[in-house]
Amino acid sequence: MKIAFIGLGNMGAPMALNLLKNGHTLNVFDLNQAAVQTLVDAGASASASPKAAATGVECVVTMLPAAAHVKRVLTADDGVLAGIARGATIVDSSTIDPASAQAFAKLAAERGNPFVDAPVSGGTGGAAAGTLTFMVGANAGVYEQVKPMLAAMGKNIVHCGDTGMGQVAKICNNLLLGITMAGVAEAMSLGVALGIDPKVLAGIVNTSTGRCWSSDTYNPYPGIVETAPASRGYTGGFGTDLMLKDLGLAADAAKSAKQPVYLGALAQQLYQTMSKHGDGGLDFSSVIKLYHDVGAK
Ligand code: NAD
Repeated sequence: MKIAFIGLGNMGAPMALNLLKNGHTLNVFDLNQAAVQTLVDAGASASASPKAAATGVECVVTMLPAAAHVKRVLTADDGVLAGIARGATIVDSSTIDPASAQAFAKLAAERGNPFVDAPVSGGTGGAAAGTLTFMVGANAGVYEQVKPMLAAMGKNIVHCGDTGMGQVAKICNNLLLGITMAGVAEAMSLGVALGIDPKVLAGIVNTSTGRCWSSDTYNPYPGIVETAPASRGYTGGFGTDLMLKDLGLAADAAKSAKQPVYLGALAQQLYQTMSKHGDGGLDFSSVIKLYHDVGAK
């Protein structure tokens, strides 16, 4: 397939590389030229704008920080909608609010373009390995059309319902992730403060009822999981500010449904404190810094 890929950050770059590896032809665009160059070195063509990238392709994939970026990339004068052919599909894998996804779908439909919300889970490791979970919001026909392309980047491609339902699944997942990460950070820090070896504690948790992805795959304590951001100074991975954004999305969606999110609200305050202290760019597992001086272990 001829595909445009826009947004080549921590997630987008490895996802785009997997599309190339699977034989797709790629036009790429990002504001960051170094990110573009990495993809060009791997065989993609650089485009001067989202409009240029979208011209002549069958599908456009966006992987951008937030809804405002998606809106700009789609609707600016040099945006995707100005260049895309009628009938070509737009797949947005960014995590945004369900209402914005539905509004983008309406806008795209007016121009004859199906729009799919397909946010992902699995982190940068899953993006590199091509094992992401895609949570897809689209009608059944469009879902079947995009499924093979998504399978080049992910292992679990799940149809969650109509447009917006992929984002509903994603923000509920990340609400839980934000809470479990803070919980693991709290428990690991308490254990260390009480004198237990962190590796022993993590080993117990990971074979006991406290086990979760935040404890066994992405443990926030340095040196427990060698591949986790905690073991490389909390660089790369999933930024604290992105987690803060997702908890805000969950809080807003909860408000619209008059549904309480007690723990989510508390987790939001924890990540907000991190961000205020200048740690918004660090991986979200650095929330452990609120409990424990990870530099002086
Ligand atoms: P990132 O900040 O690393 O990358 C975003 C990229 O978008 C950057 O390269 C940036 O230059 C580019 N960009 C921003 N505005 C642009 C514009 N107007 N035109 C073109 N490019 C533009 O973010 P990420 O970690 O790759 O996350 C992307 C999305 O995926 C977010 O919505 C995030 O919540 C979600 N997500 C991230 C992870 C993770 O582990 N990092 C996991 C699941 C989902």
